[in-house]
Amino acid sequence: MTARRRHQPPEDGPQVIVVGAGFAGLAAVAELHHAGARVTLVDRNIYSTFQPLLYQVATGGLNPGDVAYPLRTLARKKAARFRPGELAGIDPAGRRITLTDGTVLDYDYLVLGTGVSAAFYGVTGAAEHTFGLYTRRDAVALRDHIMARLERLDIEGPGTAVNFTVVGGGATGVEVAGALAELRADEDAFPDVDPTDVHIRLVEMAPALLAPFHPKLQAYALAELRRRGVDVHLDTKISEITDDQVILANGDELPSDVTVWAAGVSAPAAAAAWGLPQGRGGRIEVGPDLRVAGQDRIFATGDVALIEGQPLPQLAQPAIQTGRHTGKQIALLMAGRPTRPFRYHDKGIMATIGRRSAVVEFPHGARIHGTLAWLAWLALHLFYLLGGRNRLSALVNLSYRYLIWGHGGGVIVGDDPPEAVPGGPPQALPKRTLVTESDRLIR
Ligand SMILES: Cc1cc2nc3c(=O)[nH]c(=O)nc-3n(C[C@H](O)[C@H](O)[C@H](O)COP(=O)(O)OP(=O)(O)OC[C@H]3O[C@@H](n4cnc5c(N)ncnc54)[C@H](O)[C@@H]3O)c2cc1C
Repeated sequence: MTARRRHQPPEDGPQVIVVGAGFAGLAAVAELHHAGARVTLVDRNIYSTFQPLLYQVATGGLNPGDVAYPLRTLARKKAARFRPGELAGIDPAGRRITLTDGTVLDYDYLVLGTGVSAAFYGVTGAAEHTFGLYTRRDAVALRDHIMARLERLDIEGPGTAVNFTVVGGGATGVEVAGALAELRADEDAFPDVDPTDVHIRLVEMAPALLAPFHPKLQAYALAELRRRGVDVHLDTKISEITDDQVILANGDELPSDVTVWAAGVSAPAAAAAWGLPQGRGGRIEVGPDLRVAGQDRIFATGDVALIEGQPLPQLAQPAIQTGRHTGKQIALLMAGRPTRPFRYHDKGIMATIGRRSAVVEFPHGARIHGTLAWLAWLALHLFYLLGGRNRLSALVNLSYRYLIWGHGGGVIVGDDPPEAVPGGPPQALPKRTLVTESDRLIR
């Protein structure tokens, strides 16, 4: 039997549709592979995105392809079908979903793993004038603007400056600010740019960075960022964002050429059209077995799900674990057996600040920081990256960035967005390519 035939999707069995090919959706598909279901995976992209390394793409450390894995290949390996498309509506009584292109798909069981997007908390101008970091397109758009600003500085020479502002002091904000500081320090990337002309600022509303971590690790992260020349503003509220300024609640107007929004997430606005119960942050309410409240054949999993009595951080581990559990529950239902409640196994949290600097907190209180934590962070991220080829290319690119750093490393460059280059047409490229999110409660 050829490999092609071996992975052929089954012709019969209950039809399961999994919408969303992130950590959660893919974990559900992998579990269903063993259950004999006919699985159709639907995603609006033809690839799965590894979000934890998007900031490396945005700062020229990784290629966009390093963090994206083709879904047709992945679906076929699990004997599933892949259908590109965006969920528009759900008809629970008729057991069918509608995609935005009008296609109707029937299901016996439906799994929603669509993730979340940016929450702007009513800050004026935030949606229009900031960059998010949630999709591969976001990362590429941000990279192109960062590089173009540095190019402009190189061309215009002394007497000019560029200001980068990162909003949100969670793990994503800390990672982005740390990576920008490394980019600034890379002498070979922009050899004629004076690093003192590149200002990097991080603004956080809370009195500390990395809210879920132990205060000692928070203090370490703050000290590390400051040591790397990031201007960190804690206890600082933003009231408005314009094209070239961040305006604080106290009235201070801070210049900002590129503003990155890493300050909160909520369910995508489109979720309101699905007609399912939504809780805090618009997330879909699910019962203990992860079935959507009031539904017997629809599950929600990963970031988009809000579990009754068990609110979990929006992170890879909860997404993987809820995805697996969802697949198992559908298998139980297919076998006519009762479902089981989900229990989360805490494996700890980690965040990185930059080269040889990270923080790791284990479930029972043990914690590490510095080089050892950074190596653990690196190993884990490469481990969870999908696909051998991606792992290899990411390993090569990250090694190049971190081992050759300061000795001719350079960066992966992109295109110049026309409006960011002197003489280019104004606003030819929208700042925000998609509505996005960034920061997380914990990681
Ligand atoms: C920049 C960044 C860094 C992060 N770093 C870390 C980290 O270091 N460690 C960690 O544990 N977590 C991290 N996270 C969080 C982690 O990535 C998420 O918790 C995890 O991806 C959630 O998985 P998910 O499957 O629920 O959703 P996602 O991974 O977001 O996947 C959702 C999928 O659904 C698709 N989709 C969305 N809407 C539709 C629709 N209407 N129709 C069809 N398809 C749709 C999307 O294209 C996507 O493929 C980070 C997140 C970001 C944004």
